[in-house]
Amino acid sequence: MAVRWSRTGVQTGSEDGSEGLATIASGLVDAAEVSHPVFLLYHQVCADQDWTPSEFTVTASAFRRQMGYLRNHGFHSIPLSSVLGDTPPRAAMGSRPVVITFDDGYADTFENALPILVEFGFTAAVFPVLDMSRRTSWWATPGEPPARLLSPVELRALADAGIELGSHTLTHPRLTRANDAELAQELARSREVLSGLVDAPLPVVAYPYGDVDGRVKRAAREAGYSAGLAVSSGPMDPHADRYEIRREAIENVASDAYMTVKLSRARRLYAWSKWKVRTGLDRLRNRAPDARPAASR
Ligand SMILES: [Zn+2]
Repeated sequence: MAVRWSRTGVQTGSEDGSEGLATIASGLVDAAEVSHPVFLLYHQVCADQDWTPSEFTVTASAFRRQMGYLRNHGFHSIPLSSVLGDTPPRAAMGSRPVVITFDDGYADTFENALPILVEFGFTAAVFPVLDMSRRTSWWATPGEPPARLLSPVELRALADAGIELGSHTLTHPRLTRANDAELAQELARSREVLSGLVDAPLPVVAYPYGDVDGRVKRAAREAGYSAGLAVSSGPMDPHADRYEIRREAIENVASDAYMTVKLSRARRLYAWSKWKVRTGLDRLRNRAPDARPAASR
């Protein structure tokens, strides 16, 4: 591998496709000029009186306020499938597109989030864990009670309401730690289960914990997925790496200021550039990137 060094110590070129400062610079220009869709990530949306402090749960009233922010600030909700089409989406989608996603497949996605999405005329993509023999969550953070997961009837009702459904694997493992056979099984079997539940499942996997590396991406491609959703990793442009699409995790904050910061291009660009430098340094150290940030599961 031919490695060159800039004065900042960041790798500037290599034969393995590593990208350096030149790519970051061009990415900055690109990100400043192009309105790529912003992917938002939610988990649970609880009734207001049920909220206990959690970075993974928003109340129904905070969720409604956040959707209102999107509507009032010119964002429009587009289907995830429209981003994956062959038609370049930039011209077709106009300005400020957002893709709203929900991971894990909690029953409250149907009970609490769907009515609000309908109220605003928004759509979303839901990524349920697909071991249908278990319908309460088992991967909760210590101290959090298990939560009811979507039933087959509710999954089909979401699809009937125009919500797109993809895979969040069978058992919610950290895929980078799964062996090759387990990885293939999680990806392939969950697709089969989802295909048995709804007519037109998305060929998209949302990686549990946002945990992804090159091997996981290759396995997703080999299992027939056309895209994979990460959390705080991946390029600004979802088309630059469809197997590591960056999402923004949204927490239980109802203020417009929070959403302004979350959605601001400057903050997202800053987060992206930190990830870019970190992954470049990780490659130099010849090891996989560190585990994803905590705001993912
Ligand atoms: Zn998850």
